[in-house]
Amino acid sequence: MMSENLYDLLASRFPADPTAPCFLLADRAISYGEVTETTGRLATLLIAQGVAPGDRVAAQTVKSPEAVMLYLATLKVGAVYLPLNTAYTASEVDYFLKDAEPRLFVQDAVTLTVEAAQFAPLAATVPRAGSDLASIIYTSGTTGRSKGAMLSHANLATNALALHEIWEFSKYDVLLHALPIFHVHGLFVALHCAFLSGAAMVWLDRFSEAEVIAGLAQSTVMMGVPTFYTRLLAAPEFTRQTAAHMRLFICGSAPLLESTFEAFEARTGLRILERYGMSEAVIITSNPLNGERIAGSVGYPLPGVSLRISGGETGVIEIKGPSVFSAYWRMPEKTAEEFTADGWFITGDVGRLDPDGRLWISGRAKDLIISGGFNVYPKEIELILDELDGVTESAVIGLPHPDFGEAVVAVVEGAGDEAALIAQSRGKLAAFKAPKRILFVDELPRNAMGKVQKALLRQQHARLFEA
Ligand code: AMP
Repeated sequence: MMSENLYDLLASRFPADPTAPCFLLADRAISYGEVTETTGRLATLLIAQGVAPGDRVAAQTVKSPEAVMLYLATLKVGAVYLPLNTAYTASEVDYFLKDAEPRLFVQDAVTLTVEAAQFAPLAATVPRAGSDLASIIYTSGTTGRSKGAMLSHANLATNALALHEIWEFSKYDVLLHALPIFHVHGLFVALHCAFLSGAAMVWLDRFSEAEVIAGLAQSTVMMGVPTFYTRLLAAPEFTRQTAAHMRLFICGSAPLLESTFEAFEARTGLRILERYGMSEAVIITSNPLNGERIAGSVGYPLPGVSLRISGGETGVIEIKGPSVFSAYWRMPEKTAEEFTADGWFITGDVGRLDPDGRLWISGRAKDLIISGGFNVYPKEIELILDELDGVTESAVIGLPHPDFGEAVVAVVEGAGDEAALIAQSRGKLAAFKAPKRILFVDELPRNAMGKVQKALLRQQHARLFEA
């Protein structure tokens, strides 16, 4: 049987010329030849450390090309890569290590690479079946224990090939990589698209407006989260001219405000391509590269992905497809709960399909507010509030209330007059949907991927309506 190890697929697309650049750093470049060789040495080191096929290799490292090569080496030896957010504290990491029981836990990929120099590169990739496990991605779950989504070689390969095709990546592309690599967006979506085209990457350790703006001059594609785009737009140096070399700006991991999409187009003449994904399935839908990209919609299901809405026109999004994970690590009950009897994964996101087949997301099912017995979808209120004077961005949550069960409350980034804003929103929304209170903050709390942390907001303001 032919090996379906993802490493072989990626390496088969590396440029024939080993001197072709892979990582473009501030002061040097790392070629594809060097990446192959160092990955091979790291693979030999992993085996010397007793890492066997199926073993987990956990990594909580700063972002570096070496950390990427550790990921590739883990694939190459048939082991399972487990990236951990650098923000996790020791006690959080402790949970992941106990849960996943990795053979090796790497905290410094650069030093590991230095140590690997003494080893000869491993020549042959360890064969894997498509269904064999390639990675475990712990979800950033804000309630309960974090769950490890088990992604196979085939899950990752099919998704990477689909994206490479629909976004028309080629060897002429240069990807600006400013995302973290402990999350599917930076680790799988971005890296695999570059590797499948043998393309170079402008490699930034983290997002900084100045470095991104400088890097755009030699890049063709950037992938980002919405905060990247709002931060670029806040920089006057970011102009049509600085984006002139770019063919594509892609956005996802959190909702992109229509106002950001529009401001970006006004500034650069380019329409951001928004797509939707999650740890459990990598990318699920995308706006078209060549067709119309519509602000507020996350586009069409990827080739091979089936998508349905449960219980009515607007409801929970359920999916099936070759990139959908098989199970949560060592949580058979959780897994059973989140798949339907007929095998569809229940994403937990709420949305609707329009007559053209485009998906519109209206939030997470668990963020649904039930106020006085009525269902309130936060997104509907947020869209109205975001249009009002003084509001940069709003997050609508339900808080315990003695009369209503839950009361609709808006936490708003910006400044303004609470009573006036409530009155304005009443003019546009049914009374039960209008916020009972509006709280102003300088900045909404977000995680590393730019997602507003609603669970945290609910916790912070839980007693707002207590007598
Ligand atoms: P994660 O598993 O951390 O990548 O989080 C996945 C979740 O991010 C999804 O279930 C959605 O709730 C959200 N998400 C990702 N992309 C988008 C998008 N383009 N628009 C709205 N929400 C998104």
